[in-house]
Amino acid sequence: MIVYLGIGANVGDPLAACERAVGAMREIPLMEVVSVSSWYRTSPVGDEGQPDFVNGAAEIKTGLSPRGLLTILKNLEAELGRKPSRRWGPREIDLDILLYGQEVIREEGLTIPHPEMHRRRFVLVPLCEIAPYVIHPAFGVSVRGLLDRLDAEGRVERIARGVRC
Ligand code: ADP
Ligand code: MG
Repeated sequence: MIVYLGIGANVGDPLAACERAVGAMREIPLMEVVSVSSWYRTSPVGDEGQPDFVNGAAEIKTGLSPRGLLTILKNLEAELGRKPSRRWGPREIDLDILLYGQEVIREEGLTIPHPEMHRRRFVLVPLCEIAPYVIHPAFGVSVRGLLDRLDAEGRVERIARGVRC
């Protein structure tokens, strides 16, 4: 299954935290990191009185189920030092499942596609770099199309080159 993840952080050294997250993902069996976007410095959304974020997106290939993947990502967040915090608040690392193939899942504690992705410039800009033509299965619109239609504010500046393998 081809899956797209959103990666973000805004506490301590957020760029290092995001890179550490990708490094850790590469070590996880049943998960192959196919490509990673550039990193972007982005303004906080929802709760403006906090430091800028670093955001990126990654494409992975996995045999894990959506639930299995969510559990692994939550464990990885904890391992990378994420502490409990309020919604929209500062975080050491945030790993979200944006798209899981073309599946639409609406369950307790798991919504795929990620319910906010189409409204967030900080998600769509990095995702568009690695997956412009991938279709959002609930809207039938490509990532590029979602970004073109987006009128949300939000500063999103590229800060470092992505890696491909
Ligand atoms: P945020 O919405 O700001 O990313 P959290 O990272 O704290 O907030 O996630 C809160 C909860 O969102 C998680 O415990 C998880 O169960 C749930 N969740 C629902 N859908 C998803 C998804 N697609 N990816 C990641 N987490 C999700
Ligand atoms: Mg999250």
